[in-house]
Amino acid sequence: MLIAIVEDEKDILNLISLHLKKSGFNVKEFQNGKDFLNYLKNDIPNLIILDLMLPDIDGLEICKYLKKEIKYSNIPTIILTAKGEEVDKILGLELGADDYITKPFSIKEVIARVKAVLRRYEVKVNILEIGNIVKVDLDKYEVYVKGEKINLTTTEFNILKILLSKKGWVFSREKILEELWQGEKAVIDRTVDVHIKNLREKLKEGGKFIVNVRGVGYKIEE
Ligand code: CA
Repeated sequence: MLIAIVEDEKDILNLISLHLKKSGFNVKEFQNGKDFLNYLKNDIPNLIILDLMLPDIDGLEICKYLKKEIKYSNIPTIILTAKGEEVDKILGLELGADDYITKPFSIKEVIARVKAVLRRYEVKVNILEIGNIVKVDLDKYEVYVKGEKINLTTTEFNILKILLSKKGWVFSREKILEELWQGEKAVIDRTVDVHIKNLREKLKEGGKFIVNVRGVGYKIEE
C-alpha cells in the first residue's frame, strides 16, 4: 500500500510519514503540488493525503483535478485543513475527497482515518454488481444470484471477472483466452464458448447479462 502525502510543512510531513511507515505503509512525500502532479504521471498511489494550503497550487484545485481525471478519480483522498478552514473542508468533500483531518491532529487519528478510508474503498471496489441480480465478491471468489450463492469453477469465475473489468466492452475469445492462460496457447478457441454457456446457466436470471456479439466476442450488458 503506497500513500502519497502532499504537505509543505516539513514537521507535519515527517510526522505523518514516520507513523505511516511504522504502520507498514510505503510513503511518497511531496512539499508542493507541482512535484506531486508530476509524480502522478508515472505512478498511482493507493491513497492521497492532501494539504489544502500549499505554496504553489491550491489543494482544492488539485482535488478537483484528481476527481475529474478518470485515471485518478478512484484514488481515495484525505484532505488536511487548518482550524478555521471550515469552508475549504466542505468544498473538499463536495469535490470528492473521502475524508478530512483538521490540524492540529493526533497522529493516531490520522492512521485510523487512513485505514478506515482504505477499508471503505476496498469494500466499494471489490464487490461488483450486475443489474442488481448478480453480486461478485472479487476477494472471496464468491458469486451470488439474487442473494443465493452459486458455485462457479475457477475458469468460469475468471471469465466473469475479465468481462466485469470493463462493463460494456466486447472481449474477443482470443482476448479472454489470453487473459485466462497468460500466453499458454494450448487451449482451442471454442472452449470459451463452453465456459460461457455454463457460466450463463449457473447465473440463471443473471445469465442474460452476458451477451454474445456475433463474430466478435462477449460482453456484459445491463
Ligand atoms: Ca500547508
